[in-house]
Amino acid sequence: MTHRKTLRNELLVGFHILDEEGQNSGIAGHLTARVPDEERLLGHRYGYSFDDVRADDILEAGFDLDTGTEDRVSPSLAFHVSIYRSRADLGAVVHTHGFHALALGAAGEDFRPVYQSALMLWDRVRPYDRYDGIIENHEVGLRMADALGDGSVLALRNHGIIAVGRTIPEAVCAAVIYEENCAIQLAALAGSDLVSLGGPEAEQARAFLSSDRVFAMRWNQLWRNAARTRPFLAEAA
Ligand SMILES: [Zn+2]
Repeated sequence: MTHRKTLRNELLVGFHILDEEGQNSGIAGHLTARVPDEERLLGHRYGYSFDDVRADDILEAGFDLDTGTEDRVSPSLAFHVSIYRSRADLGAVVHTHGFHALALGAAGEDFRPVYQSALMLWDRVRPYDRYDGIIENHEVGLRMADALGDGSVLALRNHGIIAVGRTIPEAVCAAVIYEENCAIQLAALAGSDLVSLGGPEAEQARAFLSSDRVFAMRWNQLWRNAARTRPFLAEAA
């Protein structure tokens, strides 16, 4: 299988995992993959939500977001390009507006890992408190890339998240785990003072949870779960 074909299959699965995990985000969510060693990316048809996407709706565009056809990707992918340009290590970018991520940010709280799986993001979440309006330009993208630094998630207060990874599974898993942790953190905050995780054990757990083997297992489980009600995903294997 060619590398592009693999990326297209993983993207199709990734869109549906994000939908299955409650991060549909309507017409405003994105998941992209960088085409290795080229100034090009793969994304989805502009105006489609994640659950709408089928194989034919995955489009390739240059970093100028031109697909070379009448099919369009979202102009907001400009900030994905800024992030790819600033981080050579990244192969995928997710942008969603998850319910719990939004609620936690709007409550004035920052992400704190409160369960073991979330330690894959320990010390990898960067805050972004400024609101930039609708983002369709590289200037904002550069500011976001700068704020993300070497992190895995940029928490956009009152907006959503940008989750990144070396691979599509890594970026999607970061988005899923982030949202799960926010849900638990919110529930915990309704009680008393929050007890969260940290320290050397957190670093050890992060190294384990960020390994290729664990990402592969987590990705395959999320894939099987999404494929239960979407038989076309089984064919993406
Ligand atoms: Zn957005």
